[in-house]
Amino acid sequence: MPRRHLIAAVSLATAVASAGASGQDPIDRIREADLRADLFALAGDAMRGREAGTADEMTASAWVAERAREAGLQPAGDNGTYFQFFPVERFRVSTSSTVTLDGKALRMGRDVITDALVAGLVDALVTVATDGPLEGIALKDRALVVRYAPPDTPSQDAGPRTQAALRVWLRGIQTKVAASAPAAIVAIVPDTAADQWNRVAVAFPRGTYALDPDGTAPPRTAPRGIPLLYVRESALDAPIRSGARLVASISTDSFTYPSVNVVAKAPGRDARLAGEYVLFSAHQDHDGVRYAVNGDEVWNGADDNATTAVALLAIGRAISAQPGRRSALFVWHGAEERGLMGSRWYVAHPTVPLRSIVAVLNGDMMGRNDPTQAALLGALPPHRNSPELVQIALDANAAVSRFTIDSSWDDPQHREGWYYRSDHLPYARAGVPALFFTTLLHADYHTPFDNPERIDVAKLARMTRWMYATGRAVAEADKAPAFDPAFKLERCRDSTGTYC
Ligand SMILES: [Zn+2]
Repeated sequence: MPRRHLIAAVSLATAVASAGASGQDPIDRIREADLRADLFALAGDAMRGREAGTADEMTASAWVAERAREAGLQPAGDNGTYFQFFPVERFRVSTSSTVTLDGKALRMGRDVITDALVAGLVDALVTVATDGPLEGIALKDRALVVRYAPPDTPSQDAGPRTQAALRVWLRGIQTKVAASAPAAIVAIVPDTAADQWNRVAVAFPRGTYALDPDGTAPPRTAPRGIPLLYVRESALDAPIRSGARLVASISTDSFTYPSVNVVAKAPGRDARLAGEYVLFSAHQDHDGVRYAVNGDEVWNGADDNATTAVALLAIGRAISAQPGRRSALFVWHGAEERGLMGSRWYVAHPTVPLRSIVAVLNGDMMGRNDPTQAALLGALPPHRNSPELVQIALDANAAVSRFTIDSSWDDPQHREGWYYRSDHLPYARAGVPALFFTTLLHADYHTPFDNPERIDVAKLARMTRWMYATGRAVAEADKAPAFDPAFKLERCRDSTGTYC
């Protein structure tokens, strides 16, 4: 559409050429040195991976808010603060659950852990598995005990993103004996498989997370089922023999824990348009401290998503030095890694009217891969919900960053379903023009190796300038980008990756 293109190009030229009172173009305030310093602070080991549902996310969020204040941004959260707290529903096996095996009381969470959120009472005699086939053994009302024997050579795909071999093995046994209806299945884990123990144990205190944005979700209760237990072999006094007794009482805990969005703004300079907002979006949380891989147990999340979190600080410095006609809103969303919880909450409880948000520019993972390439998701149907906003972003790229755009991940048939996996999504679904800036996945994604020294800071600076220039053009334009009323997502995935 040539006319739209022309309008966008003119407003972009105004934006790019605009200079503050100092004569400096505010885009020049986006500096690699600042991005690097902020990145190494937010993604450093001291932040312990910023996991939602822990105090580490609060520490990181307080740091972000303080840096936003230093950037000249004003608070725009609840009650005049930079913060919008929200409750995350947690559900997990209670550490007060009890397990006694062959007369030995085992410490829940240390000597014994459960595989799934199943509640139940068990009082059963043990059948110890032999080397023979498991199918067909009489197990009714018995507890099956199987000793885990780690393979001599670890499988090729034993990396941090694959399922723990121990869990896969036990689930396989569960399938084989399901028809025999055992009362419980107990895996004895030798110390030689401590790495596998650690990988399964890391999920135990976390349990599962859920969000109830409108307060209508029914309370969660644990399904009754067959308890699957892992027992540390070294916690036992002697090898377990058939005829020993297992007594277990497995219960669950349900409680809420706060997560937080950090929200700031730079008011617009045009009284007529300052009530409208361009929203810059990131998430500050990551995956926390987990099991060690090659001795590294902090999952730093430098690319995911300290990159965009610090990009928003740089954009904030540029905009507060010279505000746009429209206001700029900055939201660092909490608990994204647990299922887009901060953005889902914000859309349900916005601190400015949702209809006053004219565009959402979200970034997630903006500092890796080929320095010449980047991706803009939401640029092609069915993900595209504002052709005008897409054109502004493409013009901004041509003017300031000149990336080659990789459109393949915006294809609805792309196997990663990447469009559905970051914080623009709840806004797009709510009818707000929304884009997703990213430099895509890589081998260090969701591993302890997503570290700040692996970030291409020069590329991050170009991504930051691209987001900034896009937002500046939207803020300066006479008309806000139109939402495409025909927008309809033809498929979706929930936070577990299941199509819905
Ligand atoms: Zn992310």
